[in-house]
Amino acid sequence: MNYSKLVELYEKLENTPSRLDKVSLISDFLTEADDEDIRMSILLLQGKVFPRWSEKEIGLASKTAAKIISSMSGISDREVMKEFSETGDLGLVAEKFIGRKTQTVLFSKKLSLEKVFENFRRLAETGGTGSSDRKAKLISELISSASPKEAKFIIRTISEDLRIGVAEGVVRDSIASAWFSDVEWLTNPAKRDRIIETLKSADKKKIIFDKEAREAISAKNWLSLEELEKRNKVIVEDLKKFNEEKLWKKESGIDFIITNDDSIGNELSKKITDYIEWAWFLSPDYSEVALLARNKGISGLKEAKVKLGRPVQVLLADKAPSLREAIEEYGKPAIEVKYDGMRLQIHKDGEKVWLYTRRMENVTKMFPDIVEMVEKHVKAKTCVIEGENLGIDSKSGKPIPFQRLSQRIHRKYDIQRLAEEIPVQVNVFDILYLDDEMLFDKPFRERRNLLVKIVREEKGKFQLAEELVTENLEEAQKFYQKALEMGQEGVMVKNLDAVYQPGKRVAGGWLKVKPIMETLDLVITGAVWGTGKRAGWFGSFLLSCVDSEGNLKECGMMGTGIKEKKANKNDFTFKELTDMIKDDIISEKENAVSVKPNVILEVAYEEIQKSTNYDSGYALRFPRLVRVRSDRSPDDCDTTERIKSLFDAQRGRKEEAK
Ligand code: AMP
Repeated sequence: MNYSKLVELYEKLENTPSRLDKVSLISDFLTEADDEDIRMSILLLQGKVFPRWSEKEIGLASKTAAKIISSMSGISDREVMKEFSETGDLGLVAEKFIGRKTQTVLFSKKLSLEKVFENFRRLAETGGTGSSDRKAKLISELISSASPKEAKFIIRTISEDLRIGVAEGVVRDSIASAWFSDVEWLTNPAKRDRIIETLKSADKKKIIFDKEAREAISAKNWLSLEELEKRNKVIVEDLKKFNEEKLWKKESGIDFIITNDDSIGNELSKKITDYIEWAWFLSPDYSEVALLARNKGISGLKEAKVKLGRPVQVLLADKAPSLREAIEEYGKPAIEVKYDGMRLQIHKDGEKVWLYTRRMENVTKMFPDIVEMVEKHVKAKTCVIEGENLGIDSKSGKPIPFQRLSQRIHRKYDIQRLAEEIPVQVNVFDILYLDDEMLFDKPFRERRNLLVKIVREEKGKFQLAEELVTENLEEAQKFYQKALEMGQEGVMVKNLDAVYQPGKRVAGGWLKVKPIMETLDLVITGAVWGTGKRAGWFGSFLLSCVDSEGNLKECGMMGTGIKEKKANKNDFTFKELTDMIKDDIISEKENAVSVKPNVILEVAYEEIQKSTNYDSGYALRFPRLVRVRSDRSPDDCDTTERIKSLFDAQRGRKEEAK
């Protein structure tokens, strides 16, 4: 396939705000492509050439990309950067300037999708000394045969800023729409209008109605059934007994399934997305899931398998209002310490070990000490287990704040030294795969027994998460208190009968119980301009409290809880916050500004940490906007003392955090 075909799709997607229309554009594109093109396009539509969990990334600094544009177009670096600062989009800059050049030189050879994909892959794999020249060469090679529009998207891809509004959910739905029947129900007027319009022009399609849907159409005269039947194959069937395998268009040939019962419609269409998601949860790469969907249908998706070395999406926890309610919910649950570290998914295949974070980042190289522990302490040929990786103070043996442990993530150098400085302890709590068998359907009590069998504990280093199985609230409360005194976050209450559902919060699975953090009122004292979709607005805000003398003291940077668009009355948008502070700017340096302290925000957060980055001495972890307090002035702001006392109250962790 020519790259221009994908670029045509990119262009349409960029100009199509509707999610449904995006899905239909992508699914039309997919149905016309072959396996290889599908594999590449699905990744490229997400601006990638490797799946999400891969360590390899295309990303090139904007300066490097700008240099390439300059050398390929003969336009000066300065002019390219000027245009960039005006548009905030290097792709547009490339389109404009490369366009000028190509009018004279003209792209001689058509760019194939394969060539673009191949060069992007090589780009992501190129590192070490002299790599910038080699990278520039790979891009220049593409640009020299690219049309202006192609250049725009090549540059946007390498800048990791595609701007076509295709999130993972859109890809999932496009796969559903490409290879599975379109399930529609007539009870929702908006949906009904859309499907009736589609049916009016349907030709040579296979359409299944349930009796009620057919009757409703006929009674309401929404369309002429006679006409429809003349042009298409229409069948009336009881959808309550519908065989799910027939949802696969390729084998059943069914284009539309139309019901008058929204619960049936919902159930059938949810089945399709659930099976697609299931395959994706087990091996998160939509380019492979698409091929399964295309070539094997529902049964192929159902039989998707864990692949050792590739992360599985993790099971998530729900919040419980209290320990009592959590215990009442499950009867006699397992209560485990909720360690405050980072989740690790550990894959073992013989001698090979992989470590993934909850967000599917491969951290194997950063934790050689854990790889060694797994080799020593896990007695299984193949397995996938999960645990919480906790940083430990090498002197006191006590847990250290997550913030210090996180220095070991993303570390490229001095890995060994850091492993000695910040030793870790792994607390394993679940098993998903053992000796070539997936364990998702096994209840937690059985999974925990298997875990006990294969883990040779070394206390303080590689151990099973501490647990107590009880229905007694008093005992549970003592355990919870102990967990907090240990400096941990709280407890996880786990239903012993629950299965492991990758990527989801299972109703009746895990409930977390931890102390509630009180919100803080803080004042905005600075901000950083946003990029990409947030260009033109401030994208994050510097927050300050006051000390006992009334001086402002910084305590965090917040970019969460603020909306791009206003969906609710109570939402605050980036634009609104930007407008509130932009007349208060005192000074500006690069992309950051300082502002007069006028706007007070109520801020929630996950935790307070000690910090040398902010002059209050504290940093809020994951701060998020609750609301703007226009009723308050900077004098009403929370104080460093209050932050300190909240910090002290938090898990009795005074000593370790010094
Ligand atoms: P949260 O991030 O607050 O939703 O809590 C869920 C996280 O707690 C998991 O993703 C784990 O990283 C962490 N965690 C710590 N200890 C445990 C445990 N014993 N069982 C399950 N998750 C745990």
